[in-house]
Amino acid sequence: MLNYCKRCKEIHSSEDICPFYQKQLREHPELLTEAANFSTVAAQYHLISSQTLDTVAKGINKISGSQLGYEGTQQYMRDVQVFRQLKVDAYCKSGAFENARNARSYIENASNGQRDTLIKKLNGTGQ
Ligand SMILES: [Zn+2]
Repeated sequence: MLNYCKRCKEIHSSEDICPFYQKQLREHPELLTEAANFSTVAAQYHLISSQTLDTVAKGINKISGSQLGYEGTQQYMRDVQVFRQLKVDAYCKSGAFENARNARSYIENASNGQRDTLIKKLNGTGQ
């Protein structure tokens, strides 16, 4: 896609970042962190798709030499939300999902019955 840039009075392709913003990002790399935080939250609430973000990330990577990528962000955020829900809801008393280590140990040592229950809870929580 092509965009007319009022600042440069030129046409930029969506693959390229306006030289003005390139300069600004080089001088203030902390802006990238803020942009990454913002877009992660926006993706979490499905305001933007990770496909859109990947185009943006490619442009940023080109000038900053970073390895940003947003593919799978939505699934990742969904997993985090499901995990948090298991922690505060289904397994709040046992603490099995209090942290990643507990969860791993719980899953590795679970009986068949416990595994079935977990899968049922996951399906319920996922919905
Ligand atoms: Zn421009």
